[in-house]
Amino acid sequence: MVASLGYAAHKPSTPLAPFNFERREVGPHDVQIDIRYCGVCHSDLHQVRDEWGHGAFPMVPGHEIVGRVVKVGAQVKGFKPGDLAGVGCMVDSCRTCPSCGEGLEQYCEKGFVGTYNSNYKDGSPTYGGYSSNYVVDEAFALRISDKLDLAAAAPLLCAGITTWSPLRHWNVRKGQKVGVVGLGGLGHMAVKFAASFGAKVVLFTTSPGKSEDAIRLGAQEVVVSKNKDEMKKHMRSFDFILDTVSAAHDINAYTALLKREGTLTLVGVPPQPPTLNIGNLIFSRRQLGGSLIGGIRETQEMLDYCAEHGIVSDIEMIPMQKIDEAYERMLKSDVKYRFVIDMETLKG
Ligand code: NAP
Ligand code: ZN
Ligand code: ZN
Repeated sequence: MVASLGYAAHKPSTPLAPFNFERREVGPHDVQIDIRYCGVCHSDLHQVRDEWGHGAFPMVPGHEIVGRVVKVGAQVKGFKPGDLAGVGCMVDSCRTCPSCGEGLEQYCEKGFVGTYNSNYKDGSPTYGGYSSNYVVDEAFALRISDKLDLAAAAPLLCAGITTWSPLRHWNVRKGQKVGVVGLGGLGHMAVKFAASFGAKVVLFTTSPGKSEDAIRLGAQEVVVSKNKDEMKKHMRSFDFILDTVSAAHDINAYTALLKREGTLTLVGVPPQPPTLNIGNLIFSRRQLGGSLIGGIRETQEMLDYCAEHGIVSDIEMIPMQKIDEAYERMLKSDVKYRFVIDMETLKG
């Protein structure tokens, strides 16, 4: 077995604390990664506080993992010791269903194996990346270019792919007007990607203080969503809107801003379901969609695109011991724009 030290939530109500555990021995198809950095996703917070239910404790969160390969199994072809590697939200899937066959493992019909708060096929629990190492099948490991700042690349593994995938699926492109709701970890990546695809990007925020940053990140316009007059000016004008908000809010205010047949896609997962004004959809043949992370092949494409175009996340590095403080700041929308844990600080 591989000894690992992590930070775990032992209960939804207690701060995270050091936790020693073991990972499986490196199998023929596995790579062992020494974790250097791990991003902090709002999904970590939802899960350690058990806001979505079905939380399994102790829980070691973390699914924006980057580090260096230290060991590979005999059958591994794509990695060797010393390589940079990443792990996102999934570490296995059935690999035989139609979705897996199409490289859409996130929609595996038998359910994918999550990087943490999930179970391997043998029933043992998965523990995430707020830890010293990870052992993963190479089919679920990603290659990271050494052209990228490694710490700032970590958030690409979830915030990056979760925004890339819907922008690509709904074919966001030059000439379109695209909205991004919320400038947090996901939202700031969505702004960068949509701008890089050539769309005219409008950022909707509840934090007027983020306006300048939004423009720097690629938005052409910023709308403070609490301002009804400003919202009205954009009625019926958007081709596509991506909603990344982590808390309950009015999604009907955004369907009203879509053109006829435009699409609002939700990626944020607030614990409470939204109320839907179906008239907004029916009377303009508008569409409401959802999207979950992205497949492994697509994640690699996104990482390669980022290496080519010099795209990474804007990060604030924190030591492991400050994780609960980071969660509290995240709840106040006080993140610029992703916390990343420096795993060198794990031992304190
Ligand atoms: P985050 O960094 O905390 O950003 C969320 C942003 O939402 C905030 O910065 C804030 O932006 C806005 N916001 C917060 N509370 C709000 C409220 N009450 N009303 C309106 N806006 C509010 O979170 P994240 O890591 O980007 O994650 C966002 C959501 O996506 C979470 O629910 C997470 O679980 C989910 N997620 C989904 C997937 C998927 O596959 N679908 C993957 C990863 C994460 P402003 O300050 O600009 O208003
Ligand atoms: Zn995430
Ligand atoms: Zn499957």
